[in-house]
This record gives sequence, structure tokens and C-alpha cells, in this order.
Amino acid sequence: MLRRAMLATASAGLLAGRASAQAYPSKPITIVVPFAAGGPTDLMARIVGERMAKEVGQQFIIDNTTGAAGTIAVGKVARAAPDGYTIGIGHVGTNVANGTIYKNLTYNLLTDLEPIARLPANPMLVVTSDQVQAKTLKELVELLKANPDKIPGGTAGMGSGSHLGALAFFAATGAKYQLVPYRGTGPAMQDLIANQIQVMVDQSSNSLPQVRAGKVRAYAVTAKARSSAAPEIPTAAEAGYPMEVSIWHGLWAPKGTPPEVISRLNAAAIATFQDPAIRRRMEDLGQDIPTPAEMAPATFAAFHKAEYARWAKILEAANVKVE
Ligand code: ASP
Repeated sequence: MLRRAMLATASAGLLAGRASAQAYPSKPITIVVPFAAGGPTDLMARIVGERMAKEVGQQFIIDNTTGAAGTIAVGKVARAAPDGYTIGIGHVGTNVANGTIYKNLTYNLLTDLEPIARLPANPMLVVTSDQVQAKTLKELVELLKANPDKIPGGTAGMGSGSHLGALAFFAATGAKYQLVPYRGTGPAMQDLIANQIQVMVDQSSNSLPQVRAGKVRAYAVTAKARSSAAPEIPTAAEAGYPMEVSIWHGLWAPKGTPPEVISRLNAAAIATFQDPAIRRRMEDLGQDIPTPAEMAPATFAAFHKAEYARWAKILEAANVKVE
């Protein structure tokens, strides 16, 4: 009797589980964003969330959990219930570089998260406040070399994209600026415009609109070729200091999230970036959009792993770590 009752309960549970997977999503989905509102990752999350909501018929709620270069936010996602209602957006900093830089992480970036989809990538721009006198990248480098490590520059913390950009800049030019950490380059950009800080290497999606508005000055793009979104800005190599850094974003769920939930979200993300209006908006911000094949969870997982190994070598060689 007891056994039969237990069996009945078990199969009811199974049915309920199946029914809820079929009905997914039946309530809003939270996207944990590891940086402040108004910055490049927040912008990507909002674009994705708004468009994916149309695909899945539920709203996406943006949760900006800032601090410690995204390590707090990623931990929140790794520990969340794997039910598809909490997912995270991250990038080559939060979900790749941080694994090498932060020795005390309580989660494993490669094994505690389930990849949902690779998202677009953008190069960075070397920018300064318009109060800075340098007119070219060479003049900027001379100015920084004349004031070693003194001129304040913005980053979103150790391991963020703007920190990786700064490291590439230091390596390519031999010049250094003082790294001032912010909760995201959205607020850092406001301080750059106000000349509270003078320099930043920041994602084109955040810096290009301010360059176009004449609020900050751009010297170079950290890509092999000029961006069609800003063909007037020289590549770093053309400006005399070759450096290439591309900041790609991605979506992840907690490990153990059901495969059908991952597929549903992946399909919604792919549909988002096939939308011509979204594509135009992305391209206007200098973003490179991955193909649907590149966005597939398994392909994205392999790409993530390769990027992890590549950045581990670069960061270990540069001896960048936080205990
Ligand atoms: N992606 C960060 C942000 O949204 C900036 C960075 O990584 O540099 O603020």
C-alpha cells in the first residue's frame, strides 16, 4: 500500500516535471548581469532580453549584480536553481580570464555552468577625455610615458574587458596608466567624459556612441581591420602599436539546467540575431555577430574552452593574479 502510494507520488512528480518543462517558461526569467547598468554587458543583456522575450513569451528581468569584476554575479548563477529561470550573461573577462586571475573562485567556469549561446563580439577603442592634448596614439603614448603610471584610466576591475584591453595596450606600447576600478565601464565612461579619468580601452559598443557625439576622442581600434561602423578610426597597427583584443559575450545557465530549456533559450538567442533590426543595431555598434552554428551550445562550449586555455597562457605570462 505504502509502496503503491510512493510509486503514485513518484510518477505524479515525473509528470509534473515533464509538464513544467513543456510549459517553460511559465514566469519571467532573470538575467544576472555582472556589471553596472549603462555599460556594454548591460546593453547586450537588455537587447537580448527584450528580443528573446518575444520568442519565448515571457519577460526577462535584468539583475545587475556588480563588484569584483563579475565574480559575484557568476557565482550567483552557478549556485542558482537549474530550472531555466536564472541565467547569466558574461564575457571573455568574467567567464574566461577570471578563472585564471582569481585563485579563490568558489566555482569552476568550465564545469559549473551550462553554455546557452555565444553572443556577438566587439573590438575596443583606445579613448581619452577630450581634455587630453594628444592628437595621435603616438602622442598619447609619449604623454603616458612622460607620466609613468600617473594618468588615471578606467577599468571594470581586474579581469574585465577594459582591464584586458589595458594589458594589451601596456604590452604593445610600453606605456602605462593608473588602473582605476569601476563597477562597469558605463560609470567609468561618465567619468571619462567629465575628465575625472583621462584614458580607457573600452568596448566599441560603449565608446563609439560617445566618440560620435564628440564627448571622447578615439585613437585606434584593437582589431586587425578597421570597423565598418567607424572606418575613420585607424587600427592599432596603423597607429603604430599592433594590438588585437575582441570582447565576446555569452549566455550561461547553472549546471544541470534541463537540455530542453537550454535548446529553447538557444533557439530564442539565434532568432534574436537573425532579426535584421537587431543586426543593424549590432553592426552600428561595431559588433561581429556569430553564425547560428557558432551560437550552438556545443560549438560555444568548445570555443569557450579554447579561449580559456588561450587567455590562461597570456595572463600567466603577464603574471596577473588576485589571491
Ligand atoms: N563589460 C563591462 C561592462 O559592462 C566592461 C568591461 O568588461 O570592461 O561594464
